[in-house]
Amino acid sequence: MKIADVGEFGLIHTISSLCSIRQSPVLLGIGDDAAAITFKADTVLATTDMLIEGIHFDLNYTTFFQLGYKTLAVNVSDIAAMGGQPEYFFLSLGIPPFFETQWIEELYRGINGLATQTKVHVAGGDTCSARSGNFVLSGVLLGSTDKVISRSGARVGDTIYVTNNLGDSAAGLALLQAHGKTANFDDNSFDKNRYTFFEPLVRRHLMPVPRFLIDTTEITAMIDISDGLLQDLGHICDQSGTGAKIYLDKIPISDALKKASQYLNRDPLDFALSGGEDYELLFTSSASLENCIAIGEITKEDRVMVDKNNQTIPVKLNKGYDHFKPS
Ligand code: ADP
Ligand code: MG
Repeated sequence: MKIADVGEFGLIHTISSLCSIRQSPVLLGIGDDAAAITFKADTVLATTDMLIEGIHFDLNYTTFFQLGYKTLAVNVSDIAAMGGQPEYFFLSLGIPPFFETQWIEELYRGINGLATQTKVHVAGGDTCSARSGNFVLSGVLLGSTDKVISRSGARVGDTIYVTNNLGDSAAGLALLQAHGKTANFDDNSFDKNRYTFFEPLVRRHLMPVPRFLIDTTEITAMIDISDGLLQDLGHICDQSGTGAKIYLDKIPISDALKKASQYLNRDPLDFALSGGEDYELLFTSSASLENCIAIGEITKEDRVMVDKNNQTIPVKLNKGYDHFKPS
């Protein structure tokens, strides 16, 4: 059934019924003029992210389920990068009138999948018709924390860490663009044999799993990698007033990325240094941390990379995605 047939209120009713399970600790969730909510900790974190069809996603590549999951994931990642726990999600939608109701139901199934895992309550939103024909999603996620970790706390001598492999998401996107086909892992039409070797990369792009640090006591600065390692490390350096040195042979690169780079005739380090949307956490600490991958250290001012031959390469640590720069 088309959205135009059920109308705004019919659609909100459907959305509300899909989200109702998650409403128990919410004093008032979907259905009133505003939500009434309480928080676990005193400091409230708020983040918002906008996803626009044609800029942030392509409906030829993503399913609605995956898009819903990712919309929440990118917001959860921002809260995690502040050292917080996500709590309440609000999602405003601009929906082209020709959309099917079922597509929006799938979107909310994707959202609810991650909401359940991360204990997030979908507590409201807004629904408008997008007559321009492009689907627009704008999410607001509120969370809370006892200790805010900003981008500005890195100190000279701190070690620079990441949570996991870099570059997978950008390579996943490049593979989708090379194949121009939706990779729907959730139904049987997905050709598992054809996609096996790069499935983890495509999955990382379409459904990034947000990372959390369990203990942030010793973390001095943190950011999530959405625009590429160099760009996001640049933000930590700018805001902390420091430089940085990274060791290229310590950058974690998955076997899948190595294979895919060969297949695409690209350098895996390009994806790992400048590719966006990994949503791994990048953070600094003066402590030596187990289970985290050390890739370099914070220095006084120069921003450099050291290659496997111990050669120092100066970099402008801001080579990544910029929405307002012509590509
Ligand atoms: P109002 O006109 O007062 O803004 P709405 O009719 O837009 O109210 O919304 C009614 C309820 O439905 C509100 O609780 C709102 O948060 C919720 N809601 C509307 N659109 C969405 C959406 N896309 N996702 C989740 N909740 C929504
Ligand atoms: Mg409204």
